[in-house]
Amino acid sequence: MKSKINKSEEEWRKTLTPEEFHVLREKGTERPFTGKYVYHKKKGIYVCAGCGNDLFSSDTKFDSGTGWPSFWTPISEDILEMKPDNSLGMRRTEVLCSQCGGHLGHVFNDGPKPTGQRFCINSAALHFKERKASVEETKE
Ligand code: FE
Repeated sequence: MKSKINKSEEEWRKTLTPEEFHVLREKGTERPFTGKYVYHKKKGIYVCAGCGNDLFSSDTKFDSGTGWPSFWTPISEDILEMKPDNSLGMRRTEVLCSQCGGHLGHVFNDGPKPTGQRFCINSAALHFKERKASVEETKE
């Protein structure tokens, strides 16, 4: 198990932008089609804006038409935490970073194959790292 990052609200405020803080620490949602990664198509890894944890690969990003960056799978299951979220009169599943506990977005069951999942993630919860040549890539 990875060790949890436990920072005070004060510490998070110092290290995150106001938008990142609102999404990650206050479970905010950015307005659709406003996030910097909605139409982002570069090859690389999306990491947690709070702690740098590798979360999603550009290979699993798809255009969901919802206005938020969408992925059909995380890099691995154990880097995310899922929680039932019944706020706003909806039954949803909240997605959090398992390392820092930051709110990322929600997951739905109407995604594409092969998983059928749609991880609907706020751009403000992500940072992008352009991928260097990896073993998987040289095999393609
Ligand atoms: Fe994190």
